[in-house]
Amino acid sequence: MDPINVYKFCPKCGGALEVKKENLLVCRKCGFKFYISALPCNAAIIENERGEILLVKRKLDPGKGFWDLPGGFLDGGESLEDSVKREIKEELQVEGKMGKIIGIYEDKYLFQGINYPILTTVVSASITSEKLHASDDIESFSFVPKEEVLGRRFAFASITKGISDYLLLKV
Ligand SMILES: [Zn+2]
Repeated sequence: MDPINVYKFCPKCGGALEVKKENLLVCRKCGFKFYISALPCNAAIIENERGEILLVKRKLDPGKGFWDLPGGFLDGGESLEDSVKREIKEELQVEGKMGKIIGIYEDKYLFQGINYPILTTVVSASITSEKLHASDDIESFSFVPKEEVLGRRFAFASITKGISDYLLLKV
């Protein structure tokens, strides 16, 4: 279900929300405008010296058991660079650093029955060590040769597209 059809009550006063537009709910009682916007995410492409790309396997839904890149949602007020660093640390227990922006991709993230619109910035990144520990919402990780990467089943189309653009840019 799309978020616009899920939220029924004003987060400010508790009054009834009315759908005004595709992306806008308005409170009947206090007039509060509640916009539905895409949630910003990051995903990091980390390549080692052997030209392999680091993939992680998701421990949780959406996309449980499917491949993904390290990354996640930006916290409110957090910079893209800081969020990339934080997610790499949380998921792999290693220090990371953001490189370049590869592209920005829209997608959907189905969580608790709500199909959230997301906007994922795919970046290149580096890590200080290859001694990694899968943690947080990551079940395992793998360094995959470039020519095999796109043969993997990814949880999100945006990730497949980002990796594909990265590989094309590299040629
Ligand atoms: Zn209200």
